[in-house]
Amino acid sequence: MNSILLGLIGEGLDLSRTPAMHEAEGLAQGAPTVYRRIDTLTERASGRELKTLLDAAVSSGFNGVNVTHPYKQAVLPLLDEVSSQAAELGAVNTVVISPEGKTTGHNTDVTGFARGLEEGLPNAHMDTVVQVGAGGVGNAVAYSLVTHGVNTLKIADLDPTRAQALADVINDAVGREAVVGVDARGVEDAIATANGVVNATPMGMLAHPGTAFDVSCLTAEHWVGDVVYMPIETELLKAARARGCETLDGTRMAIHQAVDAFRLFTGLEPDVERMRKTFLSL
Ligand code: NAD
Repeated sequence: MNSILLGLIGEGLDLSRTPAMHEAEGLAQGAPTVYRRIDTLTERASGRELKTLLDAAVSSGFNGVNVTHPYKQAVLPLLDEVSSQAAELGAVNTVVISPEGKTTGHNTDVTGFARGLEEGLPNAHMDTVVQVGAGGVGNAVAYSLVTHGVNTLKIADLDPTRAQALADVINDAVGREAVVGVDARGVEDAIATANGVVNATPMGMLAHPGTAFDVSCLTAEHWVGDVVYMPIETELLKAARARGCETLDGTRMAIHQAVDAFRLFTGLEPDVERMRKTFLSL
């Protein structure tokens, strides 16, 4: 590839580190890369407007676009093809555009979380896991856990209908009762008997200090993951480490979703450590 043209379609993209990761990686591989933020700000695009943005990317010769909140579901019916994983989950975050203009959707949040898990917690027991938070990121995390070794996943959300809806989608997709919705009040009881727990809520961000559950239920037998990466060391991970738990921070998912997308966009093999270095330098 001589040069690479990519974009990110979503709402409120100022703090995204994804453009820098792709631009630095493309350049390092000898292919000058431009990665544009296509930010709809707070004005949510309708399906038709989203299609117009996508058509513009195709006709302008983009090699691909990432799609983020709140368009990961809405973009799906606009694509020529969708990978089986993304179709099952009903969410796309990566659209590859062929030289002929054909669009193919993938979900590298799913593959990225799984890769981060393999990398960060290679020996973790995965029989029963609790996930707190069933929002946008939680969807991909849950699907990833269930398709990468977790036997039973218990999902809790302050909005129990969200937890149940996500359980239904994933159980349908995998053809077994792998996911059950549990009450967010008292989720500590479910955690106490699980191998691991993942925080997929915003709790732990600077704007949402604290933890989504009472950490006194954690013992050294648990592993603890967090999707929050600002800060990297959340209150949850700090408390978990103090109790002797193995931990997985939110940077791994954020980096590996970009690594997997770069590979799909360009056909080039990304250098994970280089992309990690770019991410951490921001
Ligand atoms: P979201 O708002 O779509 O979903 C959050 C969910 O958590 C909601 O359903 C909410 O009801 C639930 N929730 C909030 N507090 C809770 C609590 N105390 N107990 C139980 N449930 C609770 O948000 P999202 O888009 O899924 O993002 C979640 C976080 O993921 C973000 O705040 C961000 O820090 C992080 N994030 C990480 C990555 C990554 O790659 N690592 C990427 C994007 C976002």
